[in-house]
Amino acid sequence: MSFDSLGLNTEILRAVQEQNYTTPTPIQQQAIPIILSGKDLIASAQTGTGKTAGFVLPILQKLAESQSKVTNPTAKGKRPIYALILAPTRELAAQIGDNIRDYSRYLAIRSLVVFGGVSINPQMMKLRGGVDILVATPGRLLDLLQKNTVELSTVKVLVLDEADRMLDMGFIHDIKRVINKLPKKRQNLLFSATFSDEIKQLSQSILQSPESVSVAKENSSSEQITQYIHRVDKSRKRELISYLIGKNQWQQVLIFTRTKYGANHLAEQLTKDGIKASAIHGNKSQGARTKALADFKNGQIRVLVATDIAARGLDIELLPYVVNYDLPHVAEDYVHRIGRTGRAQNKGQAVSLVCIDDLPQLKAIEKLLGMSIPEIKTDGFAVNPNIKASPPPAKKISQRSGKKVVK
Ligand code: AMP
Repeated sequence: MSFDSLGLNTEILRAVQEQNYTTPTPIQQQAIPIILSGKDLIASAQTGTGKTAGFVLPILQKLAESQSKVTNPTAKGKRPIYALILAPTRELAAQIGDNIRDYSRYLAIRSLVVFGGVSINPQMMKLRGGVDILVATPGRLLDLLQKNTVELSTVKVLVLDEADRMLDMGFIHDIKRVINKLPKKRQNLLFSATFSDEIKQLSQSILQSPESVSVAKENSSSEQITQYIHRVDKSRKRELISYLIGKNQWQQVLIFTRTKYGANHLAEQLTKDGIKASAIHGNKSQGARTKALADFKNGQIRVLVATDIAARGLDIELLPYVVNYDLPHVAEDYVHRIGRTGRAQNKGQAVSLVCIDDLPQLKAIEKLLGMSIPEIKTDGFAVNPNIKASPPPAKKISQRSGKKVVK
């Protein structure tokens, strides 16, 4: 199947082509026609499956069609919000916004991303100017609603992206308050990596006779990812991770820790070992988070240490290594974590450092996956700490096309 057969206009197809997407991914093949038909949709899609384009492209198509019906599109007056996309984290919202910008390059549409942690005034100003597609985290959207600076009564399409994570993060009441501000007649699209009972309940209360699409087995982890564990004493985890990075010459490593403190501490220790590292978590300012992510993407830092919430939705193409410094309390989070690698047809490795305290979590994860994760033994370990600090000569990794650009 090609993009041409999906009913998208030439402007959208041109933008997609420029992203070097040749064929629609399975979620795109299934979701795009349903969304274009106007039906509600519930989609279970693994991270990295191309689900964002799966909903953004048909929304752009419908929006372009609705704009062409307006007799005088340049008429003064506020641009009504056509689509509202809710996402759990600032990073994910920003990435959706980037994708919309890329895909709508040849369309006359306006989109805006709003999230907390940054000044609200510029967001209010932009809203006043009118936007067609609004991407928001629930909390900031409620702030804007309270200030009467956003009008949602015109919304035709609502997207709940990573709905499972929004529920995990306690956004259910915020979501319901936002939904109360929407018109009753609208199209609803719900995307979720997992299909828990809570998600089923939410979908029943929001969606009307939805079509459902599932592109991966529930809670399965991508086949592109090689998973293994190292058993190690808790006190030697940092030493082991430094050793692995040095010995294997890993260059772009995303490490998960359970706590913000743990993330900071590990990033500091690795930096002392000669491995450039930054931490990304909820206590960091938005500026610091954006910088850490940008530095990581362009190879300025070698390791990004993240907590689960901060890492949710990070889209770094070609990310080769994910390390679980400690295992997550919730087994499903393991699947989300390792889903940061092995994206869009690329291979990845997910390495977990398991100490005695992690064993109950390991058991829960293996039960969820329906397999046991192989162990690789490491002897006494050494290499470190004189690891060459610098990542390889700046081979920048382009986020979207996946092409390596030598600078
Ligand atoms: P997502 O699941 O939306 O986070 O997308 C994961 C990655 O796949 C992103 O980097 C997209 O740019 C990329 N992508 C989306 N659609 C396609 C496609 N049809 N072909 C190749 N890559 C794609």
